[in-house]
Amino acid sequence: MATRNNHQIGIGKRIARLVAFSVFSAMVIVAVMLMLVQGRNAVLEKQKNIEAIGYVFAAALAEKIETQNTADIKQVLRSMARLPDIINVAALDRKNQTIATMGNAAILDTEVASSNSSVWQLLGKGFMPVSVDIIRGGTTVGRLVLFADISDIRNQLFWTLLTTLIASVLASALATLFSRPLQKKIVGPILKLTAAIQKARDARSFKHASVPGAEGETLVLVNTFNNMISDIHNRDQALRQLAYFDPLTGLANRVNFQKILETIMTENAQQATSSLAVFVFDIDNFHAINDALGHSIGDALLMNVAALLNEEAGEQERVARIGGDEFTIMVPGIATQQDAEVELARFIAALYQPIKILGNEVHLTASVGAVLLPRDGADFGVAQRNLDLALHAAKQRGPGRVYFYKPELTATIEIEAELEKGLRIALQEDGLEVHYQPIINLSSGRVEGFEALARWNHPEKGYISPGLFIPIAEKSGLISALGDWVLRTSCHAANTWIAAGEPERSVAVNISAAQMLHSGFLDKVRRALEESKLPAKLLCLELTESLFVGKSMNTVQKLLLELKNMGIKTSLDDFGTGYSSLSYLEHLPFDKLKIDRAFVKSLSNGKKNVDLLQGIIGLAHALGMSVVAEGAEKIEEIEILRSLNADAVQGYVFAKPCAALAAAARANEIDLAALNGSVKTVGGPGRT
Ligand code: C2E
Ligand code: CA
Ligand code: CA
Repeated sequence: MATRNNHQIGIGKRIARLVAFSVFSAMVIVAVMLMLVQGRNAVLEKQKNIEAIGYVFAAALAEKIETQNTADIKQVLRSMARLPDIINVAALDRKNQTIATMGNAAILDTEVASSNSSVWQLLGKGFMPVSVDIIRGGTTVGRLVLFADISDIRNQLFWTLLTTLIASVLASALATLFSRPLQKKIVGPILKLTAAIQKARDARSFKHASVPGAEGETLVLVNTFNNMISDIHNRDQALRQLAYFDPLTGLANRVNFQKILETIMTENAQQATSSLAVFVFDIDNFHAINDALGHSIGDALLMNVAALLNEEAGEQERVARIGGDEFTIMVPGIATQQDAEVELARFIAALYQPIKILGNEVHLTASVGAVLLPRDGADFGVAQRNLDLALHAAKQRGPGRVYFYKPELTATIEIEAELEKGLRIALQEDGLEVHYQPIINLSSGRVEGFEALARWNHPEKGYISPGLFIPIAEKSGLISALGDWVLRTSCHAANTWIAAGEPERSVAVNISAAQMLHSGFLDKVRRALEESKLPAKLLCLELTESLFVGKSMNTVQKLLLELKNMGIKTSLDDFGTGYSSLSYLEHLPFDKLKIDRAFVKSLSNGKKNVDLLQGIIGLAHALGMSVVAEGAEKIEEIEILRSLNADAVQGYVFAKPCAALAAAARANEIDLAALNGSVKTVGGPGRT
């Protein structure tokens, strides 16, 4: 700021100084020139006058010099010396010897002979010698030297100089004064423009500078600046739009949402009374929809969702799109969860309207996480984390669910973090085991294979269910290493059985979607087979439908085909849960279909599921797949499954999963019982 002001003063001052200096020096130059001429003329004029006087007296002296009449000479000299301007007079003879002097003798002694000093030297001394020859009868008989006082000329010159200087100073002062309006005219607009530029820069206010009085180049400067400001303003708008708004839906984007939420929270914190509800909507199965209908329809759907939510929002309510299929809504002035639920219901109803796209009606659902602020987070970071946790909890509970944040969620996260740490260690220090559960062929009654199931033998907590640690492994990225270890261990166990003379039995290994889509997955499978020397046909990979969510059918098809080409079997696990769709089966070359335990359990509930399962088994067979039923716990279930033509059964009714050796022993028991014609059910070693 200080430097800016200095510059502002600088321009005006410099112009003033320039004007003053120019006028002053011009005046002084003219004055000195005039003085030089005047001084010289005055000296020459005086010289002539004195010479004239000299000639008159020289005539009078001529005779007296000849006669050497000193008294008379002195008489003449005395009357000369009395004349004004004459300081000293001297009469010299032919040989330049002084005959007589009158006046200041000291001057005479030194100056009589030399009279060739310049005018300026003379002025310096204050006197001037004028010499006139004394002539009698045509011959020079002597010389008369008069010393004229020229100090008056000097004084006059001094005063002239002094007054000129004073006049110059006055003139330059006047010039400065008169130049002021001009100065203002030039500098004023520049200063105004500078102020406008400064303001634009400091406050980012892009107003046009209004500079009255600007003309000529300054006007061009002002106009150029204004055009530039318009350009910057437009560009700024465009950048803002890009930075803060979602180009697809026009809604506020994540950054903007965070900014708005932070602002509202800070304001609320100051008022200490207001509170607000924030909802985050995540469209269920949006990836699958996108894959099935194409991205342009996906985009159109998102635009529709944005419009529906935005239309529902009141003036105070802000809708934002913070991710692919995630939308947030901020509803201020909400004090209780009941109030929040009422507001949320409006938005859910809006979203659940059928959306018409290209003649199709699409029905969407969303998982919704909700927080009440400041209750669920007094500071912004915590609020945002808890909102994420609430959404995550909602999604875990299945599509279309709403979850309001509860402090237990945070506790769960901490427990999960603890487990993740332990799992990492278990993976490194052999804390994991694989148990094997026999799979019984229903027509032969013999064990055709095992399912390999990971076990974590925790040093303090004992056995931890894979249902708990597998999702943690998936989330933390440990699943790839864990799955690879299970795969190698299982292949090794299966081949060890064969080497020990057991009948050929397959081993089915569960593969997570994350693990399978990890690059190098196929190589890892190949290596596991090579290292264990297990024939590929004895390895079965169990995959779940989660594998297809968000991926194109093509990718999955390719993977399955490659496994098939390697001679490996594949089975579709957990059929009957989630978004089971028979249409998958037509397109994907699975060898087996595993009917989920929940489905098997429901068989005893009523006829409906029995019919449904019959249809599914029929279809699977038609598509060339065999059907394995999972989780049979009762003999009746086996009877029903047999009557429905299921191919194999796996369940506690035959055997629980157990360690490799025990599993083989149990399998042999079952085989033996089958040979003896009796169905051998529970007993034997094992644990759940
Ligand atoms: P899953 O693939 O559906 O495995 C079958 C689950 O049902 C096993 O639970 C098994 O012990 C249980 N089960 C079998 N018969 C019965 C029965 O008659 N009654 C009851 N109540 N349960 C029965 P487990 O071992 O706890 O495994 C749970 C899940 O963990 C598995 O479900 C699988 O999805 C996952 N999992 C286990 N091991 C691995 C692994 O190595 N890799 C991956 N990715 N997932 C695994
Ligand atoms: Ca399985
Ligand atoms: Ca299963």
